[in-house]
Amino acid sequence: MGGRVLSVASECVPLVKTGGLADVVGALPAALAKVGWDMRALLPAYRALRVQAKDWPVVWDEADLWGGPGKVRAGEIGGVSLLLLDAPHLYDRDGGPYSAPTGEHPDNAIRFAALSWIAARIAREGLTDWKPDILHAHDWQAGFAPAYLAYHGNGGVKSVMTIHNIAFQGWSPAHMLGVLRLPGHAFHPEALEYYGGISSLKAGLVTADRVTTVSPSYAAELMRPEFGMGLQGVIAARAALVSGILNGVDTELWSPANADPPFGPKSMAGKATARARICAEFGLDVPGPLAIVVSRLTDQKGIDLLPAVVPDFVLGGGGLIVLGSGDPGMEGAMRNLAARFPGRVAVRIGYDEALSQRLFAGADAVLVPSRFEPCGLTQMYGLRYGTLPVVSMVGGLADTVIGVNPATLAAGAATGFSFHPVDALAFSRALGQLVECHRQPKLWAKLRANAMAHPVGWETSASAYASLYEGLTA
Ligand code: ADP
Repeated sequence: MGGRVLSVASECVPLVKTGGLADVVGALPAALAKVGWDMRALLPAYRALRVQAKDWPVVWDEADLWGGPGKVRAGEIGGVSLLLLDAPHLYDRDGGPYSAPTGEHPDNAIRFAALSWIAARIAREGLTDWKPDILHAHDWQAGFAPAYLAYHGNGGVKSVMTIHNIAFQGWSPAHMLGVLRLPGHAFHPEALEYYGGISSLKAGLVTADRVTTVSPSYAAELMRPEFGMGLQGVIAARAALVSGILNGVDTELWSPANADPPFGPKSMAGKATARARICAEFGLDVPGPLAIVVSRLTDQKGIDLLPAVVPDFVLGGGGLIVLGSGDPGMEGAMRNLAARFPGRVAVRIGYDEALSQRLFAGADAVLVPSRFEPCGLTQMYGLRYGTLPVVSMVGGLADTVIGVNPATLAAGAATGFSFHPVDALAFSRALGQLVECHRQPKLWAKLRANAMAHPVGWETSASAYASLYEGLTA
């Protein structure tokens, strides 16, 4: 089958990125093209993009877009077919996609309503030579797009709303309803009303034909108050239309075959060399498993559990390298661990993708003790390099790692270590298992082989999105 999809979002790799949303929006078009779906991505022409697109043909001209004109220009960057909404009064500004150097833009609700408005108009009416079958909206910035289709006419187009981060909900006060071109009759709790105002994410969730998030477990978790951040009831009420589709990773970029030295499932010697190099670089001498953490240092990521579990892990022969930045208190706690266990624990505060790749190549294990994790990428990088993930059993971590236990060992299926609940005791037990398994070379080799055989590319995701689209257009 196949068809056409208009994807609408505020970020897209390689153009503009602040989070995982950008990776998905940028990776899906190529992956979907292989299964017959033609996807174009509509984004705001932020200042830097505007320069790149200045000579692209105008395919849509909107006279009145909240105080100024908007032109949509079509072109291609990095293999992604793009529609850039050029509305200088909204997007030609200093700073990132959401804020100026002085702080968040006060008119963000309107800036992204405008993006959503144009998405709905293009979906409904079509461009001269291209009309989508599906409108796919990502996160709160695009949440009004399905709502505009629902309230202003959909022209036969179906819509999908994807949640990448439920924490951002795009709330505006009630008096904005008319300004945002939304109908007064829909201002009630079953439709647009949210805590006395309007949430663009909720608007998308209640009006889209399907709702997805980035892992099956997170889809189920979002219906519970601990994870739903106020929207659990809204999501639970539409449970039959909600599903989770795991993100993939770029398997060319994250490949042991491209490591220095290269290695692979059949020849792991290169990994031993990489391990020796990073130990030398960080001044470590680790008889047991060498673990890494590559993460934002925040409460979400469970980094505060490390000081409680690392002493026993080190006593058992383990070592740890932490690469990350974030909460100043947690950065300090990581430095203290390094000072307390010289030769066994090292810390690098900062963001460094090249170092991250060397760490994944050389380490034995990657620790991901998140309190919640919509999908998570680092456990997948770990699988790819035979760097066994030690994960809490939440969200995408639960869906991508098969933890060691008697049943998974008997079945020969384990790919890492998992623990529940997310506390120091359970985490410490999982690290104990890691140390134990690392002492058994045959078992360790089997776990590594399982991990490296686990598929983490975009192919599986793309076919899941394709089936979703096909279900809607059949
Ligand atoms: P989140 O988006 O919640 O931070 P993910 O696991 O989905 O978590 O994605 C985080 C990405 O950022 C991964 O690609 C990870 O390797 C990368 N990353 C995080 N911190 C660092 C760092 N200090 N240096 C290099 N890469 C990092």
